[in-house]
Order: sequence, then C-alpha cells, then structure tokens
Amino acid sequence: MPENSKILVLAGGIGAAKLIRGLIEVLPQENFQIIVNTGDDIELFGLKICPDIDIITYTVANLVNENKGWGFKDESFTCLNILKKYYGFNWFNIGDKDAATHIFRTDLMSKGFSKSEATKKICDRLGVKCDIIPMTDTWVETHIITPRGDIHFEEYFIKYKTNIGIKDVIFRGIDQAKPVKGVLEKIKQAKKIIICPSNPIVSIKPILEIKGIRVALKEVKDKVIGVSPLIKGAPVKGPTDKLMKALNLEVSSFGIAKYYADILGHFIIDIRDEKFTSKIENLGIKTYLYDILMINLQKKVALAKYILNLDI
Ligand code: GDP
Repeated sequence: MPENSKILVLAGGIGAAKLIRGLIEVLPQENFQIIVNTGDDIELFGLKICPDIDIITYTVANLVNENKGWGFKDESFTCLNILKKYYGFNWFNIGDKDAATHIFRTDLMSKGFSKSEATKKICDRLGVKCDIIPMTDTWVETHIITPRGDIHFEEYFIKYKTNIGIKDVIFRGIDQAKPVKGVLEKIKQAKKIIICPSNPIVSIKPILEIKGIRVALKEVKDKVIGVSPLIKGAPVKGPTDKLMKALNLEVSSFGIAKYYADILGHFIIDIRDEKFTSKIENLGIKTYLYDILMINLQKKVALAKYILNLDI
C-alpha cells in the first residue's frame, strides 16, 4: 500500500484506543500506522512492560478488556498473586495472558531485538495488520516530580492513584531519544495525521519531544487533525486536568488547542464546547464541532468516519 495513502496516528493508551477501535471499523487495518507513547514503559519483575503499546495492540487485535480499557478480556491473575509474594509489592497489575506478552517481549529484547522489532513480532502473532510503532527504541521514562520526590508515571497513576501533588513532569532520556527509523518520512508522506484524544502531557508530549517529530509535524500541519481529550473542561477519564493545572495550562479544549497550536491544522472539539470555536479559530486552527464522547462502538465509529471524511 503506498505510504501517501496511509493515515498516521499519534496515540497514548485508553483514549487513543477508543478512537482507533472506530478507525479500524471504517478502513482496513493496513491503512493505519500508529506511533505510540513509550514514556509509561516500566521494568517490573524483570519484565519489559509497555502499557500504551499493549493497550493499542490488544485493542486492534480485538482482545482488550473493554471495561477496564487495558489488559486482555477474560483474564486471570494467578501468576501475579505469586509474583506479589516473591517481590513483596502489590500496586501493579499484570494478568496471566498479559504476562505472556511481557515475557515474549523481554525474551526478544534480551536476544537483541529492538522494542519496535519486538512490537512487530507481537503484532504479527496476534494478527494485527496496523503498523504499531513505539515512539522510540531508546529508553525514555516519564517521571512526575512530587513534593515527596521523583516517581515513575505508573507509580503516580496506579500506586498513588494520582492523589499526590505535581511539581513537574519530566521525560528521562528524552534528549538522547531518536524516532524509529522511517517515522519522519512517514510523517511527510501520510495522507492524514490524527492526534488522538489522549493525555497531552504524558501521552502526546513525549512523542512530540522525540528528536525531529515536532518539526516534521509543523511542516505538514495542514494535514494534522487533533481530537480534544477534554469535554466541558474535564477529562472523560484520568488525570489530564491535574497535569495541565500543575503546568499552568488552561483546562479546556482551548487550552489543548493552544498547547498544540504549532502542529495542528484542524481540531475537533465537542458540540458542548461550541463557545471555544472562535478562540481556537483565532489561533489559525480550523475547528469542527462533533460529539466526541465515545461511549460505545457506534460513537467510536461515527467519530472515526467524521475524521476520515474531513475534506482537508
Ligand atoms: P492513558 O495513556 O491510558 O491515560 O490514555 P490516553 O492518554 O490515550 O487517554 C487519556 C485521555 O483520553 C483523557 O484525557 C481522557 O479525557 C481521554 N478520553 C477518554 N475517553 C474519551 C472519549 O470518549 N472521548 C474523548 N474525546 N476523550 C476521551
């Protein structure tokens, strides 16, 4: 399939997965190349765990637990119970099937395969036809600076359930991080680029900060379409508001548009946020109103169709 007919998608985890589920109902999977955040990746129990890559992979493979938004459906946790005994900590959850993914990835990477190569093998085995690409093969870790010190994002999210103050957000290793080979060309050639309704601070920003990606997107901003992760000034789920507030950003669709203004040609906000339209248009971003709350498959597909049909 020619690169210039493909759709490039920037994705985090749960918010992105909802839209991607819709996108692959509208067009065959081969049309999509998905660049996924790896800042949340963590090594636990000696296993290399990539939460966002796994959410997206399981979603495309139609294996994800839709209620939780992560992990496999029909999961059991027997292995985790024993791991907890051995390691003595209990804040991170890994299902038995999920553990198999982490074991396979860790095994491949210990044999010299890169994260992107391991991802490709996992996708092949699970029958995924989209091109799922980690934002980098280099080590990057998102850390939250709290009054109690520096913690990994997964600790902030799961162990502390986001109930801890935020002084700053940093991406360890980002200065050395390079995009996976071919990604900058894919940005140039893609027919459309979609920025998913993901957390702008901890899911999309790390991708944008990988060397060359933000610059490449700026050059093609006329084909970049964003979808707001905020509706009526609030996230549908997760700590997007807490993180934006901590970084002194306005918690609204306008705040998101301003944050992405240099790379965004088009922005889809919720019909309930009509009041922001002219302010966003004044940033030079063409603004569209649609129902962007994806409460079921029908809504996911409707939003996906709307985006794919935009005549840009
Ligand atoms: P995470 O890495 O698992 O936190 O997932 P993401 O970064 O991809 O997504 C988190 C963001 O998704 C939050 O800001 C949510 O508000 C947003 N989100 C979740 N569900 C929806 C939805 O149905 N519609 C929109 N527009 N945003 C959503």
